[in-house]
Amino acid sequence: MISVAVGIDGGLPQPFESIMADIDPPARSRKVVILGSTGSIGTSALKVARDIPDRMQIVGLAAHRSTDSLIAQAQETGVRHVAMTCGDAANEVANKLGSSVTVHCGASGLVDLVRASGADMAIIAIVGTAGLAPALAAIECGMDLAVASKEILVMAGKAVMTAARDKQVQVLPVDSEHNAIFQCLEGHRQSEIRRILLTASGGPFRTLPADQLESVTVAQALKHPTWSMGRKITIDSATLFNKGLEMIEARWLFDVPMDKIEVIVHPQSIVHSMVEFMDNSVLAQLSHSDMCFPIQYAVTWPDRVANSLKPLDFAALGTLQFESPRTQDFPSLDLARWAGETGGTLPAVLNAANEVAVDAFLAGQIPFPSIWRTVERVMKAHKVLEHPDLDTLIEADSWARVVAAE
Ligand code: NDP
Repeated sequence: MISVAVGIDGGLPQPFESIMADIDPPARSRKVVILGSTGSIGTSALKVARDIPDRMQIVGLAAHRSTDSLIAQAQETGVRHVAMTCGDAANEVANKLGSSVTVHCGASGLVDLVRASGADMAIIAIVGTAGLAPALAAIECGMDLAVASKEILVMAGKAVMTAARDKQVQVLPVDSEHNAIFQCLEGHRQSEIRRILLTASGGPFRTLPADQLESVTVAQALKHPTWSMGRKITIDSATLFNKGLEMIEARWLFDVPMDKIEVIVHPQSIVHSMVEFMDNSVLAQLSHSDMCFPIQYAVTWPDRVANSLKPLDFAALGTLQFESPRTQDFPSLDLARWAGETGGTLPAVLNAANEVAVDAFLAGQIPFPSIWRTVERVMKAHKVLEHPDLDTLIEADSWARVVAAE
């Protein structure tokens, strides 16, 4: 938009280009299907929909087996399609919701739900890689993706991003760090990026001496200092595998090499990530640690919409700290960098081995450091295949699960 400004000293009017549009675009309401609606991200997505009802209409919901919450969500939103991947849960939901709601069942039910929902955006918030097939189905249907499930990008980032580019749909990050980077990068060229700085809270064991990590309990590992999240990602935050997965996620989302992605520990979780540009300026995105912020921005992008979320009070915050991660004591970051730099099937193997090891830790079967020991052993035993197709990635994932379980 070209506007004309009158010089304040009364000189000649100078033409200038305003960086801000002065006309509001027509508000776009999104029709959204939420996969993983009963989880931590899913319930935050429903909160966002309640907060900005003019911008977000929920048209489909999916979960694994949390019948009571899914039924309550379906009744609240009035959706016509839901999916439950557990067969018994699907039957119970179908009985309780009656014939006005179609209940899709099993893993294939997620894909059926996506296709039947009539959504224009799919929020992928299923823990692990079960969201991959429905995410690809959503792209195929021409829907934009709002991705929380980092595991699908770690396993098959190239396939997802290529499919999205071919179909000309957006992949909008929900992970708070990637959503922050996405915001910092708007209006910039990729060649202007010097470094991406992913912030990490450091988890509950940020200051714990290394020799005490062997004896930490599940309850201690599940006590995240700043975020309230599902169990798997909370354990990943404690091992720092979460940040490792996020490095690979960033590599695919923003098409940057791994050596441009760094991690910096920021215990307050207020700065959600930063981008350093070629002129050595750094842009950051800040807010309270509430996933409603990134979820809302993914849904309303490129618009910013008023909401009921708490604004920052900088004087009350006081100090923001930054420090280097303890890579010697938490080898997860180096393992993830190795996987990301090697590429091929190795990231899928890292991800699958980590999922198995986290489950074993949560079940009390292995001590905390055995999570990264297991992942490292499985990665070392793997013969990497370069340029894998989707079937090869799925095979590598299954192989890693078997070897990790052994
Ligand atoms: P939760 O464990 O809280 O929720 C997981 C959701 O996925 C539930 O709705 C669960 O249903 C459903 N689910 C689990 N397994 C399956 C399956 N096989 N098929 C279909 N649905 C399934 O996880 P989070 O919400 O914490 O995390 C979800 C994803 O988002 C993860 O990939 C995580 O890394 C990512 N993420 C999470 C953040 C957070 O703040 N929580 C932040 C950034 C990313 P049911 O309830 O029936 O078991």
